[in-house]
Amino acid sequence: MRPTGKLHLGNYMGALYNWVRLQDVYNCYFFIADWHALTTDYADTSNLRQNIMDVGLDWLAAGLDPERCVLFVQSLVPQHAELHLLLGMNMPLGWLERVPTYKEQQLQLGDKDLTTYGFLGYPLLMATDILIYQADFVPVGQDQVAHVEVAREVARRFNHLYPGEGETAILPEPQVLLTPSPKLPGTDGRKMSKSYGNTILLTDPPPVVRQKLKTMVTDPARVRRTDPGNPDVCPVGDLHKIFSDAGTMAKVNEGCRSAGIGCIECKGWAADGIVKLLNPMQERRKKYEENPRLAWDILEAGTERARRAAGETMDDVRAAMGMSLEYEGLK
Ligand code: SF4
Repeated sequence: MRPTGKLHLGNYMGALYNWVRLQDVYNCYFFIADWHALTTDYADTSNLRQNIMDVGLDWLAAGLDPERCVLFVQSLVPQHAELHLLLGMNMPLGWLERVPTYKEQQLQLGDKDLTTYGFLGYPLLMATDILIYQADFVPVGQDQVAHVEVAREVARRFNHLYPGEGETAILPEPQVLLTPSPKLPGTDGRKMSKSYGNTILLTDPPPVVRQKLKTMVTDPARVRRTDPGNPDVCPVGDLHKIFSDAGTMAKVNEGCRSAGIGCIECKGWAADGIVKLLNPMQERRKKYEENPRLAWDILEAGTERARRAAGETMDDVRAAMGMSLEYEGLK
């Protein structure tokens, strides 16, 4: 996850919610991708450290548990850079240029100069991040499947060029673990995104959540209180589908369609569901907010574990490439 500052409900539903569950099923590595942030935001790094910290705190608050998974910061594991460089030596340029997000993002982020080496190479960096842990699965949404495919191609090419001496491939081809990410609208009805300024943060206290909900757009057909509406075309209805229980959902469906409830009342119920979700996170966060060093220590300890795992892969990679650091074999 890129460190873009405090996380919002869209980040939670799109990734964290699944990660918290995956940590009990797999041996998981989750990292804060600060080098990836540089691929588009290289010009201003003044907030980078604080953003890393904010993401770390939100992860712990959301329930990622250092006892059950490895949490670390990418740039503190320099082996990623080494493998990225080695894989870059045989990476065909065409593979990078045809990644769908390459052209898309250059257009979308038109205010930044993204005709850079770092930006072109970010899918390879992503592949490196996966392959260096010899990952079996990568939990991603549909929009990221193309990136995992690049990682698979990179692994195949490496294993073909440098088969090594063992029975198994040095860089196993990772599989996609498709994780559902429900449509989560922001307060203006568009996709919740920091760049649209329409987010509800995991750290927003209940009065702020309620206030944000109050200003949220609704079904445009409900101009007056007496006009019936349709929760299926209302962004508040989308929030109910994710955060409200079946009983509330039934009340919303019935009341909205018959104009039996007002939007203010309906938004209050949606806020209740969100506050209920955020409450335990905000409780957990307090301990780390009061003593951020605790969170940093967790990231450092995780980084240590990640370095060990990445180091083992690099030993195999160097040996397969005939670049072992050992004296043995020299004349
Ligand atoms: S009652 Fe609720 S679901 Fe219906 S339009 Fe108003 S806010 Fe949307």
